[in-house]
Amino acid sequence: RQATYAALREVQPVTADGTRIVVNINAGLREDMPNLQLTGADGVGLFRTEFQFLVSATLPSRERQTRLYREVMDSAGAKPVIFRTVDIGGDKSLPYLRHDGEDHEENPAMGWRALRVALERDGLLKVQARALLEAAAGRTLHVMFPMISEPWEFDAAKAVFEGQIAHMRNLKKALPEAVKYGAMLEVPALAEVLDILLPKLSFLSIGTNDLTQFLLAADRSHPKLAERYDWLSPAILRFIRRIAAEGHAHNVPMTVCGEMGGRQLEALALLGLGIRQLSITPASVGPTKALVSKVNLPEITAAMAGWLANPPADMRGTLMAWAVERDL
Ligand code: PEP
Ligand code: MG
Repeated sequence: RQATYAALREVQPVTADGTRIVVNINAGLREDMPNLQLTGADGVGLFRTEFQFLVSATLPSRERQTRLYREVMDSAGAKPVIFRTVDIGGDKSLPYLRHDGEDHEENPAMGWRALRVALERDGLLKVQARALLEAAAGRTLHVMFPMISEPWEFDAAKAVFEGQIAHMRNLKKALPEAVKYGAMLEVPALAEVLDILLPKLSFLSIGTNDLTQFLLAADRSHPKLAERYDWLSPAILRFIRRIAAEGHAHNVPMTVCGEMGGRQLEALALLGLGIRQLSITPASVGPTKALVSKVNLPEITAAMAGWLANPPADMRGTLMAWAVERDL
């Protein structure tokens, strides 16, 4: 099968009924970048910039950040890379970035993390913005913000980037050709205000790892909750379908960048919910391309509508039987 998937490198993921699906990879280190060519993926849909911070003993300097981002874009060539600004804090706390006097958090996943840290320690976001903008000089920069719960947070983060652009323009520094701003939807509350947020965005990426744990109130890493933390539960699927529909209505490209998209049955379900872009673990690109080429979108969309109107007791089993029947 490995050889079969390798042979799919040059194959474009097009469904049986002729729809091109975008298949991106998730990455976080320089060393992940060769996966782009190896898999023939369309780009990097999620570059987790915090990895550089997590493997470093001190806050990475602007120069080090710039160098990494430039090397990543160089190795991607013409393919787009979406850089996510740091998602640190909470359980990924760093010794050089402590709370003021308060280290322990009862609920780190819902705590002082990601954009919440970056906006408060705005020096952090300023430096990262500057590094990304410098690295992307002459090209298009794609940047997205994690853990947004309200539209103003997107505005505030974007303003930090725009401030740096103005500053660089004054200094006559080379700027990116274009900057595309996106948001991650990981906090359920954001779904209630998408009509306010979507017109501001170039793209939206659904982070199903965090979104699922918040929707089901089930810790994503708790072994005892593994069965409850189910990407195929009707609530999760209906929720994603609703977001996808709203995104399409606003003409905003929608991606799923959580681990869910890299699993075969889940990917099939996502296609049936209207998702046309996935960002997944590199090892899943081959199998996903193979799956996509056999899927008939109207058929899975209709089946999914039926199941979500009247959910079967065993969604996974039902979906599996449906896939096996069609030799997917
Ligand atoms: C997510 O939450 O789905 C996501 C992609 O971000 P992370 O896994 O890095 O929290
Ligand atoms: Mg997340």
